[in-house]
Amino acid sequence: MGKKVVVVGAGIGGLSAAIRLQHAGYSVEIYEKQSIPGGKMHQIREQGFTFDVGPTIVMMPSIYQDIFRLCGRDPDDYIPMTRLDPMYEVFFEGDPIRHYTIGNNLPDLMRMVEAKGPRNAKGFLDYLSEMYTRYQVAYQHFITRPFRHRRDIYNPYMLVQAMKLKTFGSADRMMAKFMPDKDLQRMLSFQTLYIGVSPTNGPSLYNIIPMIELLYGIWCIKGGMHTMAEQMARLFEEIGGKIHYNAQVRKIVATDGRVQGIQVDDRLIESPYVVCNADFPYAMKELVESPRIRGKYSPKKIDSMDYSCSCLVFYWGVKGTYDHLSTHNFVISSQYDDNLRSIFDGSEIEHPSIYLHIPTQTDPSMAPQGQSAFYALLPISELGTAKYSWNEQTVKLYRDKVLQALTRLPGLENLKESIVFERVFTPEDFKQEFNAYRGATFGLQPTLLQSNHWRPQAKAKHCEGLYFTGSSTHPGAGVPIVMQSGKICAEELRRDEKGDSFE
Ligand SMILES: Cc1cc2nc3c(=O)[nH]c(=O)nc-3n(C[C@H](O)[C@H](O)[C@H](O)COP(=O)(O)OP(=O)(O)OC[C@H]3O[C@@H](n4cnc5c(N)ncnc54)[C@H](O)[C@@H]3O)c2cc1C
Repeated sequence: MGKKVVVVGAGIGGLSAAIRLQHAGYSVEIYEKQSIPGGKMHQIREQGFTFDVGPTIVMMPSIYQDIFRLCGRDPDDYIPMTRLDPMYEVFFEGDPIRHYTIGNNLPDLMRMVEAKGPRNAKGFLDYLSEMYTRYQVAYQHFITRPFRHRRDIYNPYMLVQAMKLKTFGSADRMMAKFMPDKDLQRMLSFQTLYIGVSPTNGPSLYNIIPMIELLYGIWCIKGGMHTMAEQMARLFEEIGGKIHYNAQVRKIVATDGRVQGIQVDDRLIESPYVVCNADFPYAMKELVESPRIRGKYSPKKIDSMDYSCSCLVFYWGVKGTYDHLSTHNFVISSQYDDNLRSIFDGSEIEHPSIYLHIPTQTDPSMAPQGQSAFYALLPISELGTAKYSWNEQTVKLYRDKVLQALTRLPGLENLKESIVFERVFTPEDFKQEFNAYRGATFGLQPTLLQSNHWRPQAKAKHCEGLYFTGSSTHPGAGVPIVMQSGKICAEELRRDEKGDSFE
């Protein structure tokens, strides 16, 4: 049997690292506080309805599939996927509502942008070309590698690559340079919110997200996104790994700068290697006790860092079907700038923008016959920024606002009366359930100074045998990117065992 590795957390990062290490010959056991795998990729199954709690949009499908291929499996036997076309509907509030259907068929897109005039059409193509170039650099030189040493970034070659990323300038200012039309600018920059960053001050590099959607498509997995977590757990167990559910890790135990294992309840589980998938800032504050091992990530430093926004999500079982809507629908607030400002300054949101996901449009088995599953998400302040607290009144206030906005859409006038099942996740729930620090659902915000070599890395700096993976570590948030973090984490551990020459 190979050397033992224990993994704290069966989120996507933990599963990705665990499968790779088990496959490479280690003997891996995961300790997860929840009763099912996936972390934020959780699932609610009640009264015949199935909801994904967190992620819903599949981008970069090959990254999802690669882990199954690595283990000699056909991904279609585990996570059958279909490409969505159209990808989504965008509704701009106003009188009248402006409605766009966004596909990723180039002739249709050109018709849409040419209708806005030649400057917008040319700007759209320039935007795609510019972001494609930056994406190639980001993927080859930043997303797929660790920054273990200062020399990994501070060398002439990498500094030139970093310049090519052109990280300066905000996402929406960059779009304004390409396209004068405000609707187009917003339709191609709100996606920074997918990783909890405001388009008004998030680095323009994150405009690669809509480019990836447009050029590579968005996909869905049969049974919803949680299927990915379930099937990764299945694969992990098939290749000999073990998962302990309902097992809350209390401490990462280390002495003399070397990890000894983890403490679960009052038991010490000894292991020469520990991979921590619990959110990095939470883990540094709550699981690691020694100031020497924390290094620069003291509790004070953790509190002074920038966090992504959080999410408020309503899960509704709804009577009827809604064929005029897509699987993914975005309602952009008539007071969009104010909406963004409030999310990031913590004031109460007057007019929220809403993401309405209806998984039953592609997979009717996720609701009883003739009914639909609705998932309505508001990007909202994380707990450290919010100037209000979460209680029944806060939930009611936002529920009313969401219903008010959605019932203005054609065909949803009777939504309120059609709800037959309801659950809600607030930022407090994301904190309680998954230990997401400050309920920030996408972890540390990927500001310039919290990205790449400045972001927490896979290998702990001051503790041998301890590694991190997950959205607050490099390369960042979003399912495929976190899968990548799990890959880097496994590679870093193997690299240490083999000496610094691995790959
Ligand atoms: C509402 C929402 C919508 C999203 N939408 C998308 C989307 O459409 N597409 C996309 O790609 N991404 C999306 N994301 C982001 C994506 O879900 C995350 O980036 C990713 O799932 C994070 O994975 P992780 O492994 O870093 O963390 P987590 O999922 O948080 O995993 C950490 C795991 O550790 C466990 N844990 C924590 N502490 C302990 C402890 N002490 N002991 C034992 N176990 C512990 C937790 O229970 C959890 O299972 C969304 C996220 C949210 C919340």
